[in-house]
Amino acid sequence: MAAAQSVEREIAAIVGDEHVGLQELTSAQLEINGVTPATVVAPASAQEAAAVVRVAAERNLVVAPAGGFTKQDIGGVPERIDILLRTHRLNTVEAYDPGDLTVSVNAGMTFAEMQSKLAEHQQWLPYDAPKLSQATVGGLLATAAAGPLKHAFGGLRDFCIGVQFVTAEGKVAKGGGRVVKNVAGYDLMKLIIGSYGSLAIITQANFKVFPKPRQTQTFICNFGSLAETIQFRERIFKSPLTPICLEIISPHAPEYLNDPQPAQDPDHYVPSQPLRPTANVWQMALRAAGSDNVLARYRRDLGAAVARELHGAEEDQFWRWVSHFEYNVLAKHRNAMVMYTHLTIQGVAPAIHGLEKAAPDYNFIPAVLGRAATGNLVIAFIPLSVDPPSAMQYANCVSGFRALLPPGASAEVAHCPKEAKLHFDVWGTTPTDVAVMQAVKRAADPKNIFNRGRFIV
Ligand SMILES: Cc1cc2nc3c(=O)[nH]c(=O)nc-3n(C[C@H](O)[C@H](O)[C@H](O)COP(=O)(O)OP(=O)(O)OC[C@H]3O[C@@H](n4cnc5c(N)ncnc54)[C@H](O)[C@@H]3O)c2cc1C
Repeated sequence: MAAAQSVEREIAAIVGDEHVGLQELTSAQLEINGVTPATVVAPASAQEAAAVVRVAAERNLVVAPAGGFTKQDIGGVPERIDILLRTHRLNTVEAYDPGDLTVSVNAGMTFAEMQSKLAEHQQWLPYDAPKLSQATVGGLLATAAAGPLKHAFGGLRDFCIGVQFVTAEGKVAKGGGRVVKNVAGYDLMKLIIGSYGSLAIITQANFKVFPKPRQTQTFICNFGSLAETIQFRERIFKSPLTPICLEIISPHAPEYLNDPQPAQDPDHYVPSQPLRPTANVWQMALRAAGSDNVLARYRRDLGAAVARELHGAEEDQFWRWVSHFEYNVLAKHRNAMVMYTHLTIQGVAPAIHGLEKAAPDYNFIPAVLGRAATGNLVIAFIPLSVDPPSAMQYANCVSGFRALLPPGASAEVAHCPKEAKLHFDVWGTTPTDVAVMQAVKRAADPKNIFNRGRFIV
């Protein structure tokens, strides 16, 4: 207790008394997989964050970086959290040059806030992960999260051109720069993006930005089977059409594409459709951007496959629901499990077949939605029975599903009850390059102070 107080005093001397402690949050809100942080700190600059990390390094304390708390479920259960380092005070635009199509923002800024600054110049980052009014730029980079626009534009890694970060030694360092053509030095950004706060604390990021399309239209196409949906995808690939999103939606998924009204009792809610729906409708949602002529071309080429067209507010709402799919599932079913897949394009159909086979074997209803052409699927396992499944049922379902994935594919568990997490590896098959990943972690963070227990080592 005395040691904790002396740490708090030391970090209060860096950031000010009022920025150490719970701030406006409760300890339950700050819990990560059931682990409550001993101390919470909110630095106002990279230099303050670095000084806090130096205190942690000297005393071998574990530091967990935190942005908007939208993806803290992902990862192993933390061994302990001595210092939760919140980034919400690092929330300003550092530089924005619309003529040069570049922006530099501090890592605690919410993505929505950055996007609204860019919109003043009819520009955007074509990126649509969920909860963007809460999720911070740093957190999104750390998780390499992405949504349906990844189909055409790639992930954040593809438009991040520079990062500033705090190392495990408590130094402020930089990778990349503020100009698009920057090839000097090691590409440290690629290492840090997607490393789940295990290598460094991201404090600032620079992006190339894009002109925002003036007009988009979404075509929802219906099919009687997964095979027909995949055939349609192949037809699109071979055509001159270049949609900005191409999303596959399985028969149970539309249940969760609406406002997330939690059911009265989330554990007992059962989707309105039976396990084997009679109307076995598979959907492909295709979003197009362009002039009236371009959109007319889509309408003509897609022909009879189109069941519905969406534009304006209705279209925006639809894509928000797509991005929030997993959260809508979880709002209705506290005990649902959500997995993310990493597949080749050819792996999409076999993985969905595997899901449809594995989920009912373990009393789950399968619902899948995701990028039909990048292999990033969001898979929901909805508990079928009134009794919540046992922890072992989750573990068996995860290994049963993973065993049915095509070679080279993997699936990580993004959300499931924390009791179940203790029975399997959330990350899945050990990647062949895990030794390299572990060596990088040891080199970057030899004392393992960042996010201990949540990543690789
Ligand atoms: C088998 C496996 C095991 C994992 N184990 C862990 C773990 O132990 N701990 C943990 O925290 N996370 C783990 N992860 C999660 C993984 O680190 C993140 O999900 C990942 O960083 C997010 O990026 P992505 O693979 O979804 O990349 P994508 O979103 O598919 O890709 C994003 C961008 O990054 C590029 N990219 C992706 N991977 C690479 C690469 N290796 N080299 C160069 N460019 C790349 C892509 O080309 C794309 O531009 C694991 C993932 C897999 C597949």
